[in-house]
Amino acid sequence: MGEFELIRRYFAAAPCAQAAEGVALGIGDDCALLQPAPGMQLAVSTDTLVAGVHFPDPCDASLLGQRALAVSVSDLAAMGATPLGFTLAITLPQADPAWLEGFARGLAHMAQACGIALVGGDTTRGPLSLTLTVFGQVPAGQALTRSGAKPGDLLCVGAALGDGAGALPLVLGEVRAEGVAADYLLQRYWAPQPQLALGQWLRCQATAALDISDGLLADCGHIAAASGVALQIERDRLPLTPALCSMTGERALECALAGGDDYVLAFTLPPEHLPALQAQWPDAVAIGRVLAGQGVQLLDDQGRVVEPPRAGYQHFGQGLGMHGD
Ligand code: ADP
Ligand code: MG
Repeated sequence: MGEFELIRRYFAAAPCAQAAEGVALGIGDDCALLQPAPGMQLAVSTDTLVAGVHFPDPCDASLLGQRALAVSVSDLAAMGATPLGFTLAITLPQADPAWLEGFARGLAHMAQACGIALVGGDTTRGPLSLTLTVFGQVPAGQALTRSGAKPGDLLCVGAALGDGAGALPLVLGEVRAEGVAADYLLQRYWAPQPQLALGQWLRCQATAALDISDGLLADCGHIAAASGVALQIERDRLPLTPALCSMTGERALECALAGGDDYVLAFTLPPEHLPALQAQWPDAVAIGRVLAGQGVQLLDDQGRVVEPPRAGYQHFGQGLGMHGD
């Protein structure tokens, strides 16, 4: 199968590559043409995933397609953007029809869930790697950045933390487990759900936001630094799923604080918006507050500052500080 046949069969013909709002021209020419609505800014983010570094090799192609797109779209959610389109630069060791069919299926599945269209890409031969660039639109001046947190705001997260990190020993095949809890964690790792609707709602409410990919503590450090504030996290308020607690026991907290791979939004919110948040987003939780100062502190149930647990388990890219985002 030649390059053009491969592109046509698995990508140009995929359901996610068909005509879509905001896409004036899709796959097939030298460029795609995107058409943001009047008054909107283009939000752009790119991520590379390398086999054996950011995902296990081999792995299920369909799950990889889902996850690769989800982690990229999560960056659009973090800015409060609405997805428009994405490009896929894929390097393949060989043209394996079964692999390509599975990958394209997973990609299309997540594309449909996120409302984003495949508009172009590049296809080359070599060790397996994926670079996805996502484009979204956001009303000019309203994008959520990391830099607006103010003393007095609450620190919140959009959903439970640590499931992706808790799944890693299963993903890596270090631990074998069956049952509802293991299936749930694996699902959270391979098919994270970008919090697009929450991000869009937060545009007029939150003062700063990002998506947690490197772990809550590390990513809150980015908000603290960009905003020039201190963040306090109350350890006992962290939302943990029963599946994570049953699979990881005492390590659940460590997964939530330092694990990464969450793709859940963390944001700062003036306290008067908390009731509206909780009415509309029951999984969202206030976990701390913003103060004058710098850095991130963890507090115990007595309000004492405690040393955060160290991430003592393996993850992809360990030592390089590289997650799949
Ligand atoms: P060019 O030589 O002009 O760069 P290519 O031959 O690389 O174009 O690609 C032809 C068309 O197919 C382009 O529209 C390109 O965006 C698209 N394309 C190539 N690879 C992919 C891919 N993996 N996924 C989606 N579109 C792709
Ligand atoms: Mg060209």
